[in-house]
Amino acid sequence: MSQDQKNLSFATRCIHGGQQPDPTTGAVMMPIYQTSTYAQSAPGEHQGYEYARGDNPTRNALQRNLASLEGAEHAVCFGSGLSAMDAILRTLEPGDEVIASDDLYGGSYRLLTAVHQRYGIKSKFVSMNDPAAVAEHFTEATKLLWIETPTNPMLNIVDVAALTGVAKSKGILSCVDNTFASPYLQQPIALGADLVLHSATKYLNGHSDVVMGCVITSNEEVYQQLHYLQNAVGAVPGPQDSFLVLRGIKTLHLRVQRACDSAKKVAAFLLDHPAVSKVYYPGLENHPGHEVAKQQMRDFGGMVSFDLVADNFDAAREVMKKTRFFTLAESLGGVESLIGHPASMTHASIPKEQRLSVGLTDSLIRLSVGVEDADDLIEDLRQALG
Ligand SMILES: *Cc1c(COP(=O)(O)O)cnc(C)c1O
Repeated sequence: MSQDQKNLSFATRCIHGGQQPDPTTGAVMMPIYQTSTYAQSAPGEHQGYEYARGDNPTRNALQRNLASLEGAEHAVCFGSGLSAMDAILRTLEPGDEVIASDDLYGGSYRLLTAVHQRYGIKSKFVSMNDPAAVAEHFTEATKLLWIETPTNPMLNIVDVAALTGVAKSKGILSCVDNTFASPYLQQPIALGADLVLHSATKYLNGHSDVVMGCVITSNEEVYQQLHYLQNAVGAVPGPQDSFLVLRGIKTLHLRVQRACDSAKKVAAFLLDHPAVSKVYYPGLENHPGHEVAKQQMRDFGGMVSFDLVADNFDAAREVMKKTRFFTLAESLGGVESLIGHPASMTHASIPKEQRLSVGLTDSLIRLSVGVEDADDLIEDLRQALG
């Protein structure tokens, strides 16, 4: 990223980061280059584009924009968040080890254990609450530290600067899954991370109509490997999806700020409600990660989880059946509010004892607060909690 890009404010980078009018027509918005191949004037003579698995102008424009948002040199896009993570894991060798958070997105856990373990990549899942204790798990074989913050669905906060510092001192690469925060709220590379992963499906696209992922880095060597894998493995997003994510990002700062403002009001409402026993939101002063969140995030995000006094699935099911504006669905980060039941939906594959040990009860409900009117959202929850 050029020096003058680095000095731009985040809002301006959302709109202009890595973008300029199309050089052939002056089109202000990046066109959708819906092509699989590019004409050559003589064998091997072309304008930098040969075949669209390798490079596509719309995808490249999105990648430049994503690099700018995270304050990094490079971004590489993939067909989903998990295929982006898969590409990172493919840079490892059999026998290498990953130290990952024990409070991880379920699909990331599955990719590490059920897929990459078979190819000789070992994973160890540890608590990230105490950075010094994490260092005790590092061995000669440890090559990658995998961090997620805030976590899903308990919204725990991990100290990114402390953990990436410990990894760096041992020569271990670190990657932060920044999906829940979005680059508007948190920029892990500035906090010491080597790699940032996003499920662009969530806040980056923001409209629940695309599945995509990306890896962002300023590490030239890792970038070259990922760019090679993008073409060699071929899990690439199409030009139309690249266009949609680029368009979604133009309002990223507005959407996420509104979600934060409304989530704060929703959390305050839930805290006072007699049917609610616990509220998990990093913006609350009694949240154990509140101070670290204040240091490493611009605001506290649009995700809120809460538990019910009636500590059972049936009570939670009644609430989730009754909401009008909170749609019952998996996923998060869209303009529309969603409500979900982690125990039976996103975290159903985790054994019950393990779930309960981290507070993930059968009555825990997760909200992705969208950009509707906050009072309407609160009214909706009030009638559903009845
Ligand atoms: C959704 C999600 C992923 C996976 O991304 P897909 O785009 O669904 O493949 C990874 N990490 C987190 C934190 C997520 O929420």
